[in-house]
Amino acid sequence: MQFLVLADAFEKIENTAGRLGMARLLSSLFSCAKDAQECRQIAYMVQGSIAPAFEGLDLGMGERFAIAAVALCSGASEKRVEDTYKKEGDLGSAAQILLSKKSQMALSQEELSLEGVYSSFVKIAKTGGSGSQQMKIKALAQLLNSASPLEAKYIVRFALATLRLGVGEPTILDSLVQFQINRVMRNADVLRVNGEFEVQNLQLAILEKEEDEEKATDFQKAAYELKLSAEDAEKFSEIASNEKKPEKETGEKTAKEKSTGENAKAKEETGSDENPKAKKKKKLDISAFAKSKFGEVKFTIENIEENKNSFFLHVVFTIEEKKKMREEYERAFNLCSDIGEVAAAVYGKPTDMGKFSMKIFSPVRPALAERLSTAEEIIEKIGECAVEGKYDGLRMQVHRKGERVEIFSRKQERMTHMFPEIVSAAKELGAREFILEGEALAYNAAEDKYYSFQQTIQRKRKHGIQGMSEELPLHLFAFDILYADGVEYTYEEYSKRRNILEKILKGNKTIVPSKRIIAKTAAELEKFFNKCIAEGLEGIIAKDLKQPYIAGARKFAWIKLKRSYGALADSIDVVICGYYLGKGQRSEFAFGGLLTAVYNEESGKFETIAKIGSGFTEVEMGDFEEMLKKITVKEKPHELESELVPDFWTKLKYVISVTADEITLSPMHTCGKGKGEDAKGYALRFPRMVELRIDKGPAETTTVSEIEKMYRMQKK
Ligand code: ATP
Repeated sequence: MQFLVLADAFEKIENTAGRLGMARLLSSLFSCAKDAQECRQIAYMVQGSIAPAFEGLDLGMGERFAIAAVALCSGASEKRVEDTYKKEGDLGSAAQILLSKKSQMALSQEELSLEGVYSSFVKIAKTGGSGSQQMKIKALAQLLNSASPLEAKYIVRFALATLRLGVGEPTILDSLVQFQINRVMRNADVLRVNGEFEVQNLQLAILEKEEDEEKATDFQKAAYELKLSAEDAEKFSEIASNEKKPEKETGEKTAKEKSTGENAKAKEETGSDENPKAKKKKKLDISAFAKSKFGEVKFTIENIEENKNSFFLHVVFTIEEKKKMREEYERAFNLCSDIGEVAAAVYGKPTDMGKFSMKIFSPVRPALAERLSTAEEIIEKIGECAVEGKYDGLRMQVHRKGERVEIFSRKQERMTHMFPEIVSAAKELGAREFILEGEALAYNAAEDKYYSFQQTIQRKRKHGIQGMSEELPLHLFAFDILYADGVEYTYEEYSKRRNILEKILKGNKTIVPSKRIIAKTAAELEKFFNKCIAEGLEGIIAKDLKQPYIAGARKFAWIKLKRSYGALADSIDVVICGYYLGKGQRSEFAFGGLLTAVYNEESGKFETIAKIGSGFTEVEMGDFEEMLKKITVKEKPHELESELVPDFWTKLKYVISVTADEITLSPMHTCGKGKGEDAKGYALRFPRMVELRIDKGPAETTTVSEIEKMYRMQKK
């Protein structure tokens, strides 16, 4: 596939606001892929990456080096590149402008392929050591030398990690469903009649009938038009006329009712109700024929039309079928955290997506807990349940195969090298291969004391690892097992998983099972909750004894009950999207407060919820100033919906935990804001910062639907 096809699609996606439109463009892009490998590359590149996050492969090109590369291939001086960059506010657009000024003759004739660009980027990312920056500049300049101005724009943005098309994993999953449906429909091979007739050049056009899936009727969910070429249609009707079928068929009613103007014309001319062509058509049970050919995906034939020499089959995928595909793809993604792997699998083995299984050393996306406010509510919801202590540390997913151990964070980053004591302990456990999960806390053996989150988090560091592992050794409180010695346990109920987990951990001093009881009544649950709080834990997590491990989803299989947050059931995690300058007393700091947002998983956008001006110490304010300066951007991020304009916008990178007095309604914020004129968004009253959540990425903030639920909970 030409890289230009990708660049062209990026340009269109960039100018498309809605998730639906983006998914449609992306599905067409997947249709241009020549194999599974290209599908994988598209899935990574549309997110501005070249590999899943847990591979840690970053391009790491600094602006200065990209400027040098643009100057090198455009023939402009670095000063001119910088000036154009300043004017445009984006180095990609500057490269596009400067390259379009380069004379046509000077432009290389060599075409860039997706494969070629992708492997150059992988090479750039893997280049390290002395002189590596020079090599990176050379490799980038080489790419730009063969690039058209449009290609150059996206190559530069990609190298600088400023692509930001606003395409998240949910949109990619939607587009893969669309891609698969289109592919089944477009596959000329599937249209055969009596095994003799093969349709050539089958065309497919999407009937853009109903954009809003929720409002659509069952039959409108996704309508497609299959168009046969005139020549094919002729053959088609010949075969149709040879079929021996009874004259009156109930299934033909819709076709007859909705037949084209030609029918009406025939009726006028002959004075008869029957169109001769329609008569022929009746003899072929097109419904049964097409159903047998498109069996891979279920759909309903809504209408059959004949128009001049073409036949149109209007077929509709039922919403259930689309939903099932979407769920299968999402589950696959939750099991491997690798969107490229999912895209490649959809291309290669679409019918096996339901059987997708986890892979050791590919992190599984974590199961998440719902919230309730009281022990009574929990027992009412799930009845007798396991109640575990809620440890406030670092969530870890530990993978082992023989002598290899890997540790992944809650956001699927590999952090094995930071925790040597957990790696050694994992090698001593009673299974050669496993994936288990737990919460790790710093532990003082001499005083038999567990440390706070703030102390534990010091273990997440790049330097001085060995010393810190002796000073603040960790204990891992394991709470789940996903896989062990060839058996996948995610489908098994909690009780069985817990038994296996305890067997594997037996006797180990560093990796121990989380403390727990089985509670039948609210009183028992409450007593255990109070005990946990007294011991310094954050609260409890109640677990439904019968539920499987539900990767990547927040379900009532796990319910958290925490120390009180006033009227709120929990603290709220928000992403910083901008900041304000200091005023008055704070004027010595450039930083005076934050504008923050939460993730709306329906739209894939971020919506503002609070301006936060308190909860920071002076040190933190200084740190924030430094940190935010590095991620300041000129424009409001594409994926953010905001009616407020802070003094500076930032990239959506840092997540912080906040508490507040309550969730209120405000016209200023966009969180959950309806479309009506008086509609208000959700906002936080007196928000205070608690801590920086380095273990969470922007898409892992509290979501808009969770905020809605918490708003309703506090009103009870
Ligand atoms: P979430 O993980 O639900 O998005 P969060 O990261 O803010 O939210 P909490 O709301 O405090 O964390 O609660 C869930 C987290 O609690 C889990 O992700 C896990 O890291 C931690 N945890 C501690 N003890 C347990 C336990 N026994 N079982 C499951 N999770 C536990």
